[in-house]
Amino acid sequence: MHEVTVVGAGLVGCLAALAFADRGHKVALYDARPDLRSEAELKNASLRSINLAVSARGIEALRSVDTKMAERVLADIIPMYGRMIHDLQGGQHAQAYGLWGECINSIDRAQLNRTMLDVIEDNANITFFPEHKLTNISLSRKDKKYQRPTSTFETKEGEERVVESDYIIGADGAFSKTRDRLQRYVRMNYAQQYIDCVYLELKIPKADGPDPFSISPNHLHIWPRHKYMLIALANGDGSFTSTLFAPPALMEQVCESQNTFISFFKEQFPDAYELMGESQILESYENNPRSPLVSLKCSPYNHKGECLLVGDAAHCMVPFYGQGMNAGFEDIRVLMEILDEKKWNVEEAFNTYTERRHKDLVAIVDLAMRNYVEMSHSVVSLPYLIRKKVDGVLGRVFSSAWVPLYSMVSFRADIPYSKALSRSARQDRIIGNIVNWTSFAGLVGMGALFYYKGRHLFGRLFE
Ligand SMILES: Cc1cc2nc3c(=O)[nH]c(=O)nc-3n(C[C@H](O)[C@H](O)[C@H](O)COP(=O)(O)OP(=O)(O)OC[C@H]3O[C@@H](n4cnc5c(N)ncnc54)[C@H](O)[C@@H]3O)c2cc1C
Repeated sequence: MHEVTVVGAGLVGCLAALAFADRGHKVALYDARPDLRSEAELKNASLRSINLAVSARGIEALRSVDTKMAERVLADIIPMYGRMIHDLQGGQHAQAYGLWGECINSIDRAQLNRTMLDVIEDNANITFFPEHKLTNISLSRKDKKYQRPTSTFETKEGEERVVESDYIIGADGAFSKTRDRLQRYVRMNYAQQYIDCVYLELKIPKADGPDPFSISPNHLHIWPRHKYMLIALANGDGSFTSTLFAPPALMEQVCESQNTFISFFKEQFPDAYELMGESQILESYENNPRSPLVSLKCSPYNHKGECLLVGDAAHCMVPFYGQGMNAGFEDIRVLMEILDEKKWNVEEAFNTYTERRHKDLVAIVDLAMRNYVEMSHSVVSLPYLIRKKVDGVLGRVFSSAWVPLYSMVSFRADIPYSKALSRSARQDRIIGNIVNWTSFAGLVGMGALFYYKGRHLFGRLFE
């Protein structure tokens, strides 16, 4: 039995704790925040409900760790079968995600986290310590007082607690302290990029009347406006969590005053303005922050068998592929598979994890970045729609050999991200050739037609 310290009781840290405990190890789970299930936190959460899209990789990983917990948290998901594009005139146009009726699913992040904490509470192998903020880690017996790796936490009362364990799993999110400290022990390559986009959360309230949903709950709604966009995902109570993404300069400009913000909404998202209502828009404007979006890659993820980074701490991506949490959950499934494969030789397993997992994580971080352009701009461009049609036709005709990229990423947990990326590059080249040759053939056909018609006309003129 190993003693494991998990830093961060967010979504990925909770799954990591459950996975290690399930294999009989003793887990101590720490988080800087108060318990999400406490009264104060519940009140806080009711003011801001954030939902995420969970897809095949996330679901598969949850099931691989605890089928009962997976069943419990997935009971309330809302399937989304495609995008619903809202144009400037208020028209709506559906675009299916999959070729065979597949879906991604809207899930309440806080509820998911709380349910995982409930399951953790019932697990005798896990002890949860909220309000414990990691301040340091010490590896390789740097601190001679201890034989094993240590983590230092600051408690709510300002006390310092040093905890010894066999290894540390850093699941403390995008601004990970574990990662920061780990860099003292490994030559970590590290790249962080703030993209030219910030986001603001808004809400579409539930509708009065028998149907609480004012727009389809089974679509991810997008108002693409090229340089910025608004999206909305359904919540179980009939409301929608909506997010405005825009470059910081534009966001600043439209947020100059209540009037500028309302005018912007009326002009650019007239139907969303009606759905939200002016008072709801202003409430979000006043209370919700404009948050930055960061993309982050690093490697290696581990130091020997002593410390390993997972989830956003290891790979933070912009949210446009809806894969951050899914990839984090998949980290845990892959890690457990490698630990089992290496017969729990932890050092060998952590090294192998870094080697095997890195190319997949780089692939999804890059794909997420690319998808911003697709969601905000391409979804309404004709060349994109033509290519998507061709992609779909090929996927239907050659179903075993051809899978569109979105389907590989979102519906096929068996295809690693890096394979999905390389396969899609090949498929893209083929689609490009088909589109080019079809356009060329069309031009030749039109040329021949003009020539034929022209010859007849000129022939008659000079008769
Ligand atoms: C706008 C937006 C939309 C998104 N949409 C999606 C989506 O649709 N689908 C999807 O899959 N992903 C989505 N994501 C990404 C997803 O939210 C993250 O990938 C996921 O939450 C990462 O989980 P995590 O557990 O690694 O990190 P976090 O959820 O950030 O959890 C980290 C935990 O560590 C704790 N912590 C931090 N520092 C310390 C410390 N020093 N000591 C102790 N504890 C600490 C924190 O309190 C927190 O509980 C979205 C992200 C954003 C910003």
